Amino acid sequence: MNAYKLDEGSQYCLECGDPIPYGRSDRKYCSDKCRHRYHNRETRRWHRRCARIIGILETNYGILESLIKLGVENALKSDLVQMGYNLDFLTSCRKVGHRMVCRCFDIRYEETESRLRNISFDRFAWRDEE
Ligand SMILES: [Zn+2]
Repeated sequence: MNAYKLDEGSQYCLECGDPIPYGRSDRKYCSDKCRHRYHNRETRRWHRRCARIIGILETNYGILESLIKLGVENALKSDLVQMGYNLDFLTSCRKVGHRMVCRCFDIRYEETESRLRNISFDRFAWRDEE
């Protein structure tokens, strides 16, 4: 009995804000239409957020790639930030001995407090596919 809401008006649809007139007490939408609208919007929001993060990673990757092509293996974080690098985003990072070995897709580097060192393509990561 407690699983179903009986008192009208105590819950409101997450999509349209109308009271949910009946149904289970954990019901969040007044109709399937509202449920679909809500989920579609949340899915679009999620994809936009992912696209922004991928964009940041692509920018970071482009900066690292251009440094490698210029023969630059080490860079100050402050210089990278000035170039548009976002230090908050990377694709992996793990401690190897006393070093922090990080990756932006297939570019590998070691991160210290002030700089990225030994920036290089990590061909090893793709060995199985070549
Ligand atoms: Zn609704």
